[in-house]
Amino acid sequence: MTPAAAVRAAIPRDVADLLRALRTAGFGAYVVGGAVRDVIAGRVPADWDLATEATPDQLRALFPNATYENRFGTVGVPTGDSVVREITTFRADSGSGDGRRPDEVTFLPRIEGDLARRDFTINAIAFGLAPGASRRADPVADGAIVDPHGGIDDLTNGLLRAVGDPAERFIEDALRMLRAIRFVARFSLTVEPGTAAAIKRDAPLASRLSGERIGAEIEGILAAAHPARALQLAADLDIFAAIAPALAAEWSAEIGTRVEAVGGTSLPDAPDPLGRMSELLLPISDDADVAALLESWRRPRATIAAIQQIRALDRAVAVAESEAERGNLDGPALRIVAAATTGDPRDAVRQVRRRVAAGRANRSAAALLSACMQGDEQQLPATASDLAVGGDQLVARLGRAPGPWVAALLAHLVDDVAHRRVTNDAGELLAWSERIIATEGRDSIA
Ligand code: ATP
Ligand code: MG
Repeated sequence: MTPAAAVRAAIPRDVADLLRALRTAGFGAYVVGGAVRDVIAGRVPADWDLATEATPDQLRALFPNATYENRFGTVGVPTGDSVVREITTFRADSGSGDGRRPDEVTFLPRIEGDLARRDFTINAIAFGLAPGASRRADPVADGAIVDPHGGIDDLTNGLLRAVGDPAERFIEDALRMLRAIRFVARFSLTVEPGTAAAIKRDAPLASRLSGERIGAEIEGILAAAHPARALQLAADLDIFAAIAPALAAEWSAEIGTRVEAVGGTSLPDAPDPLGRMSELLLPISDDADVAALLESWRRPRATIAAIQQIRALDRAVAVAESEAERGNLDGPALRIVAAATTGDPRDAVRQVRRRVAAGRANRSAAALLSACMQGDEQQLPATASDLAVGGDQLVARLGRAPGPWVAALLAHLVDDVAHRRVTNDAGELLAWSERIIATEGRDSIA
């Protein structure tokens, strides 16, 4: 199939309707950017963006239910249940005081000018009908590819190339450097040498980007099926030096491969965005530094907490692995630690698997993994809430005032049940508790 035929076949009905409405009103009508790129690359696009010379005012007259975001000059047309298609007037961005946002937008009469302001050739391909095309022409059936920067060739050859002079493009907008790494990850591209040289030169500008945008791009990179090479590239082109100096200082060649292996597509825990993020930041040894970096990237509190838990659990698994190596294989104990660390005993299996995938586990990991999996299958108790008795019953049976000893005794019982020293039955556990207190004494428990 030719690229044009592929795009024709993929255009959703509501998008085709919008293109026809534009055409019928006498305007040029194109689909452009990510969707065209994705279809030509054989993927399913996440969103379809349209472009035309019609101004936002003209678009709002044509589509009365449209919403308008003045800052971006983009009109959103609702076309169905929670579907909004964005139509953008052909435009040029001019000036860029802070390297982040255009100071001024100029509307343009033709698609070619609009494609020239886009970041990479693979993102600068359009499909549709030009302004002034015959009114009888159909924008889908008669539409054609517009690809003035050779984006289709670059996509076919696996090349990421800046549109225009790369020496200017990253100064205009430093975010493009992170987008470059993300597209390399997503489409397994090689960066064209001139573009790579410009990124390396301008990488320090990335330190001025908002943390939120950096965080979002990093997550986008980690979400790709094969981020290893892209992460190495971010290190080689000094992007990490700009956005995560602590990581850059500890960078080594195996990190990208390790991150990619965690949550790999063939693994049961895939996708594993948190596992990948924590693997990426693992070279930073201080938990507080990792938390501060993620906070600066405006990641949600829950994400930061989860990554701290993964780091803590990873240390516990490392200890359990070396114990296993010395003959003390103890899956049930690791499940208990996992439950105490993350709230879920099954995270023991997940973390051993992450370490095995990353190639950081020792020879005993396989045995530890199957011991933990067995515990999961048998639903072995791992927290006090799994026990057939509660603290109140222990207090009543033992006739003692409540105190810290209750929690200590419950922990003791969890350990005993998990190791099958006693069955998880209320009567048995109460009798067992009396024996513990009698032999070990209340004080040693508390
Ligand atoms: P995704 O699949 O992640 O949405 P995308 O290429 O569609 O990728 P968007 O952020 O949705 O990315 O942007 C849509 C289009 O707008 C891009 O394809 C590109 O042509 C253009 N674009 C987006 N961001 C920039 C930028 N920072 N500089 C220049 N052009 C950009
Ligand atoms: Mg998009």
